[in-house]
Amino acid sequence: MTPGGVNSPVRAFRSVGGTPRFIASARGAYLTDADGQTYIDYIGSWGPMILGHDHPAVREAIAGALGSGTSFGAPNAREVELAELVTRLTGAERVRFVSSGTEATMSALRLARGFTGRKYILKFRGNYHGHADGLLVEAGSGLMTNAGELGAAAPSSAGVPEEYAALTLVSEYNDPAALDALMAERGHEIAAVIFEPVVGNAGVLIPTPEFLTALHRVKAAGAVLIADEVMTGFRLSLNGATGLLGLSPDLTCWGKIIGGGLPVGAYGGRAEIMDYVSPQGPVYQAGTLSGNPLAMAAGLATLGALEADPDLYLRLDAYTAALGEGLVNEAQAAGVPLSVNRVGSMLTAFFQDAPHGSVCNYADAARSDTRAFAAWFQTMLARGVYWAPSQFESIFTGAAHTDTELNATLDAARAAFGALPGG
Ligand code: PMP
Repeated sequence: MTPGGVNSPVRAFRSVGGTPRFIASARGAYLTDADGQTYIDYIGSWGPMILGHDHPAVREAIAGALGSGTSFGAPNAREVELAELVTRLTGAERVRFVSSGTEATMSALRLARGFTGRKYILKFRGNYHGHADGLLVEAGSGLMTNAGELGAAAPSSAGVPEEYAALTLVSEYNDPAALDALMAERGHEIAAVIFEPVVGNAGVLIPTPEFLTALHRVKAAGAVLIADEVMTGFRLSLNGATGLLGLSPDLTCWGKIIGGGLPVGAYGGRAEIMDYVSPQGPVYQAGTLSGNPLAMAAGLATLGALEADPDLYLRLDAYTAALGEGLVNEAQAAGVPLSVNRVGSMLTAFFQDAPHGSVCNYADAARSDTRAFAAWFQTMLARGVYWAPSQFESIFTGAAHTDTELNATLDAARAAFGALPGG
């Protein structure tokens, strides 16, 4: 009925094998499948559910909005309130709501092109920014099986014309010299440089300070610096990776948490650039369901709950640090090579023998033993832990994960490492 039986590829479990679980319900840190099996959830809907599933404040906010109609196609108070909250928390001067992360990045790039009058964009190998044509070039997430030459702009998907892909330049993540060299040569033609400030879509990759400095240098060439915080926004801090790492992008893209589990994306930043967006300016962007009242209500309740609990980020950090340390210890005890990358509540355990913290770009991540990961994933699932079904994704922890879930996860991990050949 649907291609591959799913509405988004990684859900099909193609890289880990086995049968995808059909989820019937979710509460707190748990998913329950159609067969009544429960799992500790480390997907959190791929990021949005930072408060845990079925959070009372979010449920009540959606229920409250429901009584006044589900979509107006006209301005409403909730979208103004959410815009005020987002601009206050992030320092963006203007924000425009859309309905997905893909729309956010696609729109931000059109805006950067409209603002600069330039054609080219620059992205980093293994970063994923949604599925707009020009961004499916050397892309991460579900596309990480493809490889190509740097700067060669190979499309990662059929259906992307070479002419589109040719407008996307690619550089290596965490390689400031390569970025400087590309900017020196092509900087005057580049409308935007878009990046994941902490990568989740090649597995977690952590930016070096030198790379972040080089990223900010692109502004001097007149390129618009776009932080794609769809995954990291409101997750790594109330001001995302930007707040955590002290970044100053021109534009930022959001998704996931900003909609509290309903379909929302957003882009925003400097007024001078954002005022190029229609109807204020000449760059067209629109949406039937943009600013949808239910989605805005869920976003408001979620961001409100995060703001009301400033220690939450510390708790998430502590939980996820303990999870990472526990995994390393269990792997070591079983003789399984493992390298864990983590920032706050995002973590990837790469099945490879690399020194701690040395997996820092696409090629490093791609060296992982995906067969060992797949076998480990299956044992985890059989033991009631729903890990991300790909080696090249981040897992996400949330407010509902407690010591009970941590201990159960590490028990399962012990068995899963032990069941591997050599384990
Ligand atoms: N950017 C990043 C960094 C993402 O992680 C994702 C989705 N995982 C997107 C953009 C696209 O968001 P969406 O799936 O909502 O279109």
